Parts: sequence; structure tokens; C-alpha cells
Amino acid sequence: MTSHFLPFARPDITEEEISAVVETMRSGWLTTGPNAAAFEKEFAARVGGGVEAVVVNSATSGLHLAYEAIGVKPGDEVLVPTWTFTSTAEAVRYLGADPVLVDSLPDTLCIDLEDAARKVTDKTVAIAPVHYSGLSVPNGQLTDFAESHHLKVVEDAAHAFPTINEGKLVGAWGHAATVYSFYTTKTMTTGEGGMIVTPDAEVAKRMRVMRLHGISRDVFDRYTSDKPSWQYEVVAPGYKYNLTDTAAAMGRVQLRRADEMAAKRANIAAAYDSALSELPVTLPTHAAEGSTHAWHIYSMSINPDAPVTRNRFIERMVEEHVGTSVHFIPLHLHPYWRDTYGYTEEMFPVASEQFKRRVSLPIFSAMTEDDIDLVIAAVHESLA
Ligand SMILES: *Cc1c(COP(=O)(O)O)cnc(C)c1O
Repeated sequence: MTSHFLPFARPDITEEEISAVVETMRSGWLTTGPNAAAFEKEFAARVGGGVEAVVVNSATSGLHLAYEAIGVKPGDEVLVPTWTFTSTAEAVRYLGADPVLVDSLPDTLCIDLEDAARKVTDKTVAIAPVHYSGLSVPNGQLTDFAESHHLKVVEDAAHAFPTINEGKLVGAWGHAATVYSFYTTKTMTTGEGGMIVTPDAEVAKRMRVMRLHGISRDVFDRYTSDKPSWQYEVVAPGYKYNLTDTAAAMGRVQLRRADEMAAKRANIAAAYDSALSELPVTLPTHAAEGSTHAWHIYSMSINPDAPVTRNRFIERMVEEHVGTSVHFIPLHLHPYWRDTYGYTEEMFPVASEQFKRRVSLPIFSAMTEDDIDLVIAAVHESLA
């Protein structure tokens, strides 16, 4: 028996990230500056598709900026999967618009586009699909849907870096905006942070202005351009969503390591797949031909004939020294969304049913072989 407790997630930080942060701290430039600018360029180049990247202090800020820049306004409706973190929907509310929740597909838990079609009204302006767990919403279907209903697409790619969607990286398909998260548990991290990519120069420009108080020149630009540094203009009531340069320095190293970290997560998923296949659980869906899975989350469901419920399984895993989590508690079950929009469980039959069975196992690149074995043994024991 081991006495050590394996947490659900832990960031994968090496001496390289630590040195990059320390070097930045010694440089005398801590706020948004040369590292943030370089991080944006390197990220945009990695995504491809001729996008511009705008770095921010969270994906939530990024979603807010993206919705604002594409023109979401009070009274508008945005289609959002109920199977997501609250950010995807809350940022719509920041603008006085209404998220309209959509049910999920039972296998991938990504947005059900047939249900989405039923929810389109003459107020619908956009759809915000979530590439849940790191598996993408197939781009052909998504594009057809958006074009046929004349909607803009803001991709919530908080789980999906790096994910290939039908031959291109998520973010490279030319949708209005794609938003990534660098929160501490995500596939790459800056502690807190996020990135937005867009192929539209006007959208990028608006997001850059709104990211920093609605000021027409950012701080670094003010100190490096030939105009006097005290000169700036406020052109809108913007926000304070910029990322520090220390965080950006960490992000640049994490970006360089993203493929190596993704390969480690894919190995963990493969180990779970083969070791858990005989148990009364339904294992996660894999990517279709031409696409890949980022394996941010390894979400399985406890079958109805299993000897324990999902909740009991989670308690048993703790007794076996392994942390697990549930992604997600669908939005329609949370008091704010339920009470504000009058949602019931019956309106989202797939998500409501899946919620009772799903559990996420630890899958982070800093896991050791022993950690992986510990999880596998714990799952077997908890289902015995
Ligand atoms: C983590 C997450 C977010 C929010 O990311 P932050 O960077 O913490 O703001 C948004 N959407 C989804 C699907 C997430 O999992």
C-alpha cells in the first residue's frame, strides 16, 4: 500500500519554465511586454492558418473579448453546450446577451448540432462549441451548421491544444475566434492565462484595445514606439485582461513542450484503455480518422450494472489514494442557469443521464509509471 495521494491534476513544470520566469523577473519588465508579444507570435505560427493571436489573463476573459469583438450585444442569443464549464455561458451574460443551452452527444459529450438547430431563433448570432476533453466537434459539420444558420463561431478550445480537427489544428479553420485556456490544470499552463486566435485583423484589433482599458496603444507599444510614452487615447470602456510577462515567459516554454506533453497524455490514455477494458465502464471515444485527441480529460462512465454508483466510485478512489473529478456538472443543473432560464433535467436528456455516470481519471503529463499503475489498480479495486 502506498501512503501518497495522487491528486487529480498537477502542472508539468521543469527547470526550463522556472529559469524563464526568473530571467523575466530579473529583466525589470514584469507586465505585458516582449515575452507576451513573442508568445503571441509563436502561438499563432504553431496554430497556422494565418491567424493572429491575442494573449489574455484567462480563457474566460478571452471568451468575453471574442464575443464582444464579433458584436454580441444585449438581446442576442448564443448557442452554448450545457456540457461545459460556466465560462462559456457566463461571458455571454457579461454582454447582456443570452446563452441558449444545447444538449450533448452521448459518446463525445460535444454539442448536439441537431438539438442546436431546434434552438436557433431570429435572435441567434453565434455558436460556441466546446471541444470537450480535447476531442473536436467535426469541422465540416460545424461549418455547415454555422453557414446554414448564418452564425459566427467562437470555439471554446480550453481543452483542445493541440488537437487536430479534420486535418488542421483547432483554431486554423478560419472561424471568427478560438479561445484557449492556460489555467493551471490545462494541457499547457501559465498559472492563469489564455489565448485567442482569429483570422480577422479587425477582430484582433478590437480585442487588443478592449484587453487593456480600451486604450488605443498597449503599454509596451507606448514605451517602444517613437511617440512620447505618456500619450494614449481611451476609445472605449475596456477591461483589464492583459497577461504578465512572467506568465508569458512560462507559456513560451510550455508551448515548446506541448507536443511532448501531449504524447505523454496519449500514452496514459492508451494504458487506461487497455487496462480498464474488461471493467463495467464505458471508456472514452477516440478521435476519428484525420483528427486527434488532446487527452486533456479522460472521461469514462460507470455502467448501470457496475457494483458501485459514480458517487461511491469517487469515494472508493479517495480511499485508494487517487483524486478524480467530474467534468462537467451540466450548466442546466446549476441554480443560476436553471432558475434564470427555467431549465429542467428533461430538457437535456443526454447530459442529465451522462452526468450521473461520468468520472474523470487523472491524466497529466507529470504522472510517473507508478502513478499510472496506482490509478489502474485503484479503479479495479473500486469496482470490485
Ligand atoms: C477551464 C475552462 C474554461 C475557463 O478557462 P480559464 O482560463 O480558467 O478562464 C472555459 N471553458 C472550458 C470548457 C474550460 O474547461
